[in-house]
Amino acid sequence: MSSTGEFDLIRRYFQRPQLQSAVPMALGPGDDCALLEVPPNQQLAVSADSLVAGIHFLPHMPAKHIAQRCLAANLSDLAAMGAKPAWFTLCLTMPERDDEFLQGFSDGLVDMAQRYGIALAGGDTTRGPLVISIQVMGWVPAGQALLRKGAQVGDGIYVSGTLGDAAAGLMNLQDDILAQDYLAQRFFNPTPRLQLGQWLQGKATAALDVSDGLLQDLGHILSQSQVGASVELDKMPISQPLQDKLPPAKQRDLALTGGEDFELCFTLPDAHAAPLSSLGASLGHQLTRIGTIETELGLRLTHAGQAVNLPTSLGWQHF
Ligand code: ADP
Ligand code: MG
Repeated sequence: MSSTGEFDLIRRYFQRPQLQSAVPMALGPGDDCALLEVPPNQQLAVSADSLVAGIHFLPHMPAKHIAQRCLAANLSDLAAMGAKPAWFTLCLTMPERDDEFLQGFSDGLVDMAQRYGIALAGGDTTRGPLVISIQVMGWVPAGQALLRKGAQVGDGIYVSGTLGDAAAGLMNLQDDILAQDYLAQRFFNPTPRLQLGQWLQGKATAALDVSDGLLQDLGHILSQSQVGASVELDKMPISQPLQDKLPPAKQRDLALTGGEDFELCFTLPDAHAAPLSSLGASLGHQLTRIGTIETELGLRLTHAGQAVNLPTSLGWQHF
């Protein structure tokens, strides 16, 4: 790419006012670095995710959906820390200049930036296989971030929304890349649970987002908190469209190990259970208690009061 072409591309697709307006920047994209000021008494929460075509998203998905999904996956990490979104950077590697792709991608970023209040501070644009690398930055009051460690014996284990939808949605998209049904949307446009994460500050004892599969991700809370848990399969929140699509055993399998729903899993002392149940109605999604933190290490599953075996694979393995 000629350097004029490169700078025109960056200006046209990544320096749109709608991408920079949500949160002030002392200096936005265009110089060697952006300059960002964190408000007093806040910590900067930082997280990065790379998404590779063919592995983390379907390469022929509409570009707008690719952008929405990439940013949502990153915003979900901020939600899981209880942080408020502020800025992101974008490193885009693509095989060649493709204006139709870039326009759709940029429109998807604008949609997310405005919906969730995050501003694009800078990035890098290079040639190569399609890879999207996003780093998000958010604020959290100092000392208030929700960590994976801290779950206490007796806490309830909760999840937001419903589980297994994204894995089922991916099946629908593999049949029809333009599918727009509820399950497909749960895959290409997941909703980061930012309001819930901020509400949980000072209340939840541990939290994370479900990206690799509930059982595997809950395992991180258990090992970092040095506790065990029992989880009741009958309590698993499963959406009506997933119930309509697959038989019960398969629904449960996707809910336990499917991943990519970007729901929050958190542990909460009983004292906060009542306020949480009234919160669900105002947020517009379910909040479900699925189990309890216990002293005995390890994870136990029950179904109709009977112990059942854990699935052989607990979730997605990257390597
Ligand atoms: P440098 O060579 O100093 O790294 P670049 O030519 O890569 O600078 O980028 C020029 C400016 O454009 C920088 O401010 C950078 O942050 C911004 N930029 C480049 N690519 C992107 C992108 N994909 N999204 C947002 N900003 C970008
Ligand atoms: Mg650069």
